[in-house]
Amino acid sequence: MIAAASAAALAASAPRQRPTLAVDATTRLLVIAPHPDDETLAAGGLMRRVRAAGGAVRVVYLTDGDAFTAGVQATEGRTDVKPSDFRDYGRERKDEARAALRTLGIHGDSLTFLGFPNEGLGRLLTRYWSERKPPYESPYTRRDRPRPSEILEPNTKFRGEDLTQELALIFASFKPTLILTPRKEDQHVDHCAAWFFTADALGDVARVDPGFHPDLATYVIHFETWPWGGAVPALSGGPSGWVRVLLTDRERQTKLDAIRKYKTQMSVMDWFLEAFARREEVFARPARPQVVLPLRTSPCDQFQSESGLDHGSVARQQPDQEQHNRDNQQHVHERANRVGAHHAEQPRDQ
Ligand SMILES: [Zn+2]
Repeated sequence: MIAAASAAALAASAPRQRPTLAVDATTRLLVIAPHPDDETLAAGGLMRRVRAAGGAVRVVYLTDGDAFTAGVQATEGRTDVKPSDFRDYGRERKDEARAALRTLGIHGDSLTFLGFPNEGLGRLLTRYWSERKPPYESPYTRRDRPRPSEILEPNTKFRGEDLTQELALIFASFKPTLILTPRKEDQHVDHCAAWFFTADALGDVARVDPGFHPDLATYVIHFETWPWGGAVPALSGGPSGWVRVLLTDRERQTKLDAIRKYKTQMSVMDWFLEAFARREEVFARPARPQVVLPLRTSPCDQFQSESGLDHGSVARQQPDQEQHNRDNQQHVHERANRVGAHHAEQPRDQ
């Protein structure tokens, strides 16, 4: 009892460690955004701070955000929208991302658009995993692969394994010290899936370089009443507790200016976007991920939305997990070789 009481007293008297994300000129921040705007909503202030400190920032967009039907309809001024309209919308959102990041002091060569299917990332975790099956085709854009300008590894198509590969190549060449990625509890299917692809790609790189341990933190965009209703989302802060980054008035204003560059999004939900220009940006450090894809069933499926357009959902069938595991074993080695080649490159600035 005495020992326990002493320990408690010691713990109480020890200075409380406030979790923080300290940044300086050595910081290499990689932000993974499922759609153009997520990076600024989650971390516009932190990205600005890293650049101001002389650190490097890279943003990777998993999709062009081209499947937002209400947004496409609002932009086109009509309801009968066609695949080319969705594609044009994606192009416009990419331009908005470049403008937003310029506002934060981050220039075009720091942005990477991977062009994977908006609203489709959850499918790639399970059924559309490897080249054993035809790739996923977006019911919005009718694409089954990224635009040619968006492809890093030749022959990349809308398959989960290809997305993991593209991410792993970026991790290996940029060599981030800090990665921000969506949290798996985020209630948008692409955000939830982004967590699993990040974790899988981290595993790929670690197989080549066991010393690769960037600081990993997650952010939340869509969860219940967030960004309203409290200082942090109604979720556990995980092992570290919530990490809160207090913005200066100037950082907050710059973030708001950047958010407003997303004109296509502001026109349909400015109230939501502007609510992220909060005094604090909040993140959580997850337990070390132990994810190996593909998944037999995806926890992200519960967040599928706009499925009326997605005919893939009608015929969805559960994959054979053992077969998937065998596929994965074959491909992990090949992927590791490709990642290894990129890992040998020197990191580029920013
Ligand atoms: Zn998003």
